[in-house]
Amino acid sequence: MRGLLASFVVLLLISLPLWAAAGWVEEQQLGPYLIRSEFALRDVSDLVSDLGDLQTDLETMLSLKCQPTEIQIHLFRSQRTYVNYLSKRVPDGTKRRALFVQGTDAGRVYAYQTRDLDTDVRHETTHALLHTALPFVPLWLDEGFAEYFEASPGLREKHHPHLGEIRRAMWWKPEIEKLEAKREMLDMGKNDYRDAWGVIHFILHGPPAAREALAAYFDEIKSGKAPTPLSQHLRRRIPNLDQKIISHLK
Ligand SMILES: [Zn+2]
Repeated sequence: MRGLLASFVVLLLISLPLWAAAGWVEEQQLGPYLIRSEFALRDVSDLVSDLGDLQTDLETMLSLKCQPTEIQIHLFRSQRTYVNYLSKRVPDGTKRRALFVQGTDAGRVYAYQTRDLDTDVRHETTHALLHTALPFVPLWLDEGFAEYFEASPGLREKHHPHLGEIRRAMWWKPEIEKLEAKREMLDMGKNDYRDAWGVIHFILHGPPAAREALAAYFDEIKSGKAPTPLSQHLRRRIPNLDQKIISHLK
């Protein structure tokens, strides 16, 4: 008995640091999301209810079907505990404020408490959902959609900060082909996120031909062939595309 007890204590000591390192105080399954949090989820009840609608919003707006099996969302109480946790698992991600990592078993979202936690989690979860709907998503589009859906539902169309940024930018134009050429996260500068958002806004709230272009492009991606760039789908259907995007946003 004493031997058994001793080995139990040893086991406990071995497993304790790992458990303590995470410090989850709550774990909740919400549809496809397994949310683990270092603070009470009632503190972020709006976020949790928005997450419940995010998949439907994305599927309705993009005419896609997401097929999430499991998306784990990890919420940390501070940057310190976030960095501590990620440094052992995704060391490259520790400098980012939030992160999405596609694993073979599940998509994983990591974020810590700041004023922008809701936005960060919606942004990263959009990546997670999109990757369950399409076999691949080009970087600029992935970020453009994530920027669009990161706003809370009522603010997406008319109140994203990027709208004001584009309106204030002198001589702004969309440059879709430049965005399409970006391959690495490091290639995406701050303005590229803004500009990708602008093109997505035009596609979702501009003329129906823009959504037709997106649907044709998604069909090509789903077929497994190398798709014609979205810019070409758009230019084929919409003459003076750049000017139309500018007039739409300005
Ligand atoms: Zn992103």
